[in-house]
Amino acid sequence: MNAEIDNLDFISSPKVVENYKFLDEIGVFKHIERLNKELLDCSNLLSGAVDIFNKISITEILDAAVWKISDRFLPSFITFLWKPHQNRNDVTIKSYKNYKPVDINLPVQTIAPFIPFFTRFPKPVAYEIFEFQEKNLDPVILDRLKELDPELLIPIMGPFGLYGIVLIGRKMISKGYTPDELFFLEQLMSFLSQAVQNNLHYEHSVRDVKTGLYNHGYFLTRLSEEIARTKREDAVSSLLVMDVDKFKIFNDTYGHLAGDRVLESLALTIKQSLRTGDIPSRFGGEEFTILLINTPRQTAWLVAERLRKSVEEMKVPWEIPLPQVTISLGLVSFDSKMDTNADEIISRADEALYKSKENGRNRTSIWGGGLLFRIQHSRENTEDKQDPDIVTA
Ligand code: GH3
Ligand code: MG
Ligand code: MG
Repeated sequence: MNAEIDNLDFISSPKVVENYKFLDEIGVFKHIERLNKELLDCSNLLSGAVDIFNKISITEILDAAVWKISDRFLPSFITFLWKPHQNRNDVTIKSYKNYKPVDINLPVQTIAPFIPFFTRFPKPVAYEIFEFQEKNLDPVILDRLKELDPELLIPIMGPFGLYGIVLIGRKMISKGYTPDELFFLEQLMSFLSQAVQNNLHYEHSVRDVKTGLYNHGYFLTRLSEEIARTKREDAVSSLLVMDVDKFKIFNDTYGHLAGDRVLESLALTIKQSLRTGDIPSRFGGEEFTILLINTPRQTAWLVAERLRKSVEEMKVPWEIPLPQVTISLGLVSFDSKMDTNADEIISRADEALYKSKENGRNRTSIWGGGLLFRIQHSRENTEDKQDPDIVTA
């Protein structure tokens, strides 16, 4: 007799059948099934946590959470609302349908209206219960929520209380969420909350608070990395430094707050003029830098001039009309042939910037342009009659 038949004999033995019935009656098998399900949930949660914590950007973190939730429940939509800044109240909204980002119109400017409810009840809640209990929410928001028809609202709680909410649509296949499923979602959201907070801390450590651009420390690290990369990969990149012209007089005349508004507008203009991958930072005070990755001198010159002209036309919202500000720029390119370090590159860009100031401001100068570039540039650049100022070593 082989082992399989042995086994069958064992299963059909009257004693086993009798014991099986007994165990079934007292619910042992159901209990084991439940434990197995819990085990599966835990391993799902664990893999969800690993997926979420491995991501760096907010978009990647949300994508990972959306995959986990959609795989398990297939809701008709998922919407995240959260406060991206500790010290500001504005809210960011991101929605997904079928795993993909979509736009939904939700007239929520801050998460403040949700704070009283979720401070009292910091748990996932069925939308019907929320709607029934919540008497103070703006009717416009309530109407829109009703239209969206979420099944659940889940708070994202941080160390300073509520800073986000997740709306989960109706399940597309089955109905309702069981207590186990709610527990799963609550736990998953606590991981999401932690990951989002880590991301905010990281962003705070690399960004300048006033302008949202990268800060000085991040810029220096990236510049050194970029110099090493251009050497390794035989690439060419460029560095632009810029400084607001006569900004002291501006501040003295219109006040520091108006000056701050100029710096904020300037940061926005810089961001709008760049490609993804370029690294704009606030070097300090009213000085900014842009690291242009894989960008030769000619292209960097065009970027610089385009930016300079955008600043010439920039409108700064303020209580009274403000005079136009201008910037001066210095440009240096570096490649594998240059044996230089970050300090040297910065001081060359500074020299070029100084030249721009010396020659009348509101202009771009290039470090070490050389005769060939000067001729090439004046041929190519017919639209703009201004020739670059060249600083040579
Ligand atoms: P130049 O054209 O030669 O650059 O003249 P400038 O007046 O801009 O040069 P200077 O370096 O003498 O002055 C820089 C001014 O920038 C001084 C300071 O009041 C202002 N500034 C620096 N940081 C900030 C800031 O965060 N906010 C405001 N409002 N002003 C700032
Ligand atoms: Mg300055
Ligand atoms: Mg200045």
